[in-house]
Amino acid sequence: MRDLLIGLLAWLTAETGYVAPGTLPEIRLLSQSQIQAIALPHGPWIPLTAFYDDDVIHIDLRWDPATMKGHALLVHELTHWLQHKNGKRGPMCEWEQEAYAMADRWYRANGEEPPSIAIERILQTTCHWSLGPT
Ligand SMILES: [Zn+2]
Repeated sequence: MRDLLIGLLAWLTAETGYVAPGTLPEIRLLSQSQIQAIALPHGPWIPLTAFYDDDVIHIDLRWDPATMKGHALLVHELTHWLQHKNGKRGPMCEWEQEAYAMADRWYRANGEEPPSIAIERILQTTCHWSLGPT
């Protein structure tokens, strides 16, 4: 896991210009109900494959780190980690747009087309939509 994180962070920092801190985030594998309890304790129930919070990346334990899809998910969450560590400001939708764009770029850098756009992605990256009161 450590080698995977270091490799993806090296690629991400080269692509984005973000500076990697001298530490690595913790990866915590959780069941979907555990993820829901932490990320969306008051609902609504929205399936989340992963989310980032401070220095911890929470990922559904069904995640497969040996696949391109698994790597792309980690690229997305590591982008959020770098955004946070580099003091990025602005609305959540802009953070999401960049994180999805980096995951897409990761697919293409490895010779694959990114998967088609899911509705949750459209909602998260649309700046006129939010999960609830902010
Ligand atoms: Zn995200």
